[in-house]
Amino acid sequence: MSLTANGIRADGSWRNWAGNQWSRPTRIERPSSEEEVADLVRRAAADGFRVRVVGSAHSFTGIARTDDVLVTLDDLNGLVAVDDDTGRVRVRAGTRLSALNPMLLALGLAMENLGDIDAQTVAGAISTSTHGTGLGFRSIAAGVVGLRLVVGDGSVVVLDDDHDPGLRDVARVGLGALGVITEVTLQCVPAFNLRAVEEVLPIDEVVAGFDGWARSTDHVEFFWMPHTGYAQVKRNTRTTEVPPRAATRRKALRRRWKRFKNEELLSNVAFGAMNHVGRLRPSVIPALNQRVLGGVSRAEYVTTSYEVFTSPRRVRFEEMEYAVPREHGLEAFDRVRRLVGALERPIGFPIEFRVLGADDVPLSTAEGRDSCYVAVHVFRRTPSEDYFRGVEAIMDDYGGRPHWGKVHFQTAATLSGRYPQWDRFHAARDRLDPTRRFTNEYLDIVLGS
Ligand SMILES: Cc1cc2nc3c(=O)[nH]c(=O)nc-3n(C[C@H](O)[C@H](O)[C@H](O)COP(=O)(O)OP(=O)(O)OC[C@H]3O[C@@H](n4cnc5c(N)ncnc54)[C@H](O)[C@@H]3O)c2cc1C
Repeated sequence: MSLTANGIRADGSWRNWAGNQWSRPTRIERPSSEEEVADLVRRAAADGFRVRVVGSAHSFTGIARTDDVLVTLDDLNGLVAVDDDTGRVRVRAGTRLSALNPMLLALGLAMENLGDIDAQTVAGAISTSTHGTGLGFRSIAAGVVGLRLVVGDGSVVVLDDDHDPGLRDVARVGLGALGVITEVTLQCVPAFNLRAVEEVLPIDEVVAGFDGWARSTDHVEFFWMPHTGYAQVKRNTRTTEVPPRAATRRKALRRRWKRFKNEELLSNVAFGAMNHVGRLRPSVIPALNQRVLGGVSRAEYVTTSYEVFTSPRRVRFEEMEYAVPREHGLEAFDRVRRLVGALERPIGFPIEFRVLGADDVPLSTAEGRDSCYVAVHVFRRTPSEDYFRGVEAIMDDYGGRPHWGKVHFQTAATLSGRYPQWDRFHAARDRLDPTRRFTNEYLDIVLGS
């Protein structure tokens, strides 16, 4: 049975994008207004059910999983209002970033920063502290200035500059634990283009250059291909330049082909085929990894910000990602590199390395500290536990904070000391969801029941 955009299948079961989480909810709700959300929450409370909202099911953890009431806000999407003076935009919570980005562009606006994909819903992205890269930039949730939430008794709570801004600040990264977000107000920026430079370089050169690039380039990240001495580096600089017209049709086609080859053929089609082969014959993975990188061409282009930040990801995988204090990032990466060399089974997926500025959202993975992010992946249905546990042990040494939507093995006991504003979040949770209408097994583990 094929996956839908929210993971809900025709037989009433639910599965996430990666296929590593599934459930059979007792009830599936698809409200199209805030009143309908309030009504379904009241009915769930009367029947003694818990409630979870699913966005686009792009989390790898069981964060959206429930056997009780599963809610999709696919019918609660779109723009509500725009404030031209401030660049603030009110959107319904189920709006996907893929729909939001072109809508903002038409208004002359953009999201300040984005992650690697645009499949997430706005509420899903902020709830797990989704982020992109850039030392001078913050997580998506840090740009939230207002929220509307339906809480456990079915009432609506409005949080913004004029209504409990302290609680608003906490609820920006809520893990779905505080209520159903029905609307989000985002602080946007004027639309901008990015000049992208993508190239494959020796990994030692990349590690040596990263700190300098992080300071001099708006958005930098790299993908080290295990068992090779090389990484693909992406450096994106904000620009007012417009995409140059190619001198000839032939040049325009060549430029488009290069991007297509890097993004679609090598990152998706050929990469997927190679991972299928590698799953059957792990010993060929190092040679295949060399091949993938060998095919990536240097590319330089200017285009709309969101088209540079995000790309399609068609090869399904499982991922763990940790945020560590920026000053420890490259050391942590180096240890992961050595761990990969010592694993029994070769790794066929790149390791991604990003950097982000500190923010003040209590459960943001970059709360209070500039951070580096180390992300490790395995092709779906490939054994991963020794790899992921090994990486986690390294990250523990630096007080690493796991992405709330990506695989990890932490608990409330191990996480509480890593978030200075942990108690503030729990006070907000006690206030907004005292009966724990919105909890599930994952939240009981990571937040405590
Ligand atoms: C291919 C791929 C690439 C990715 N790239 C990045 C990346 O570059 N950077 C990054 O940081 N992360 C990345 N992620 C992780 C992803 O951004 C997060 O897991 C995100 O939360 C997924 O959004 P979603 O809409 O699918 O939410 P879901 O996974 O469906 O839900 C996530 C959480 O949000 C809650 N939620 C959703 N809607 C609401 C609502 N209306 N009210 C209350 N709670 C709600 C859910 O209950 C759940 O707790 C990636 C994931 C994949 C699969």
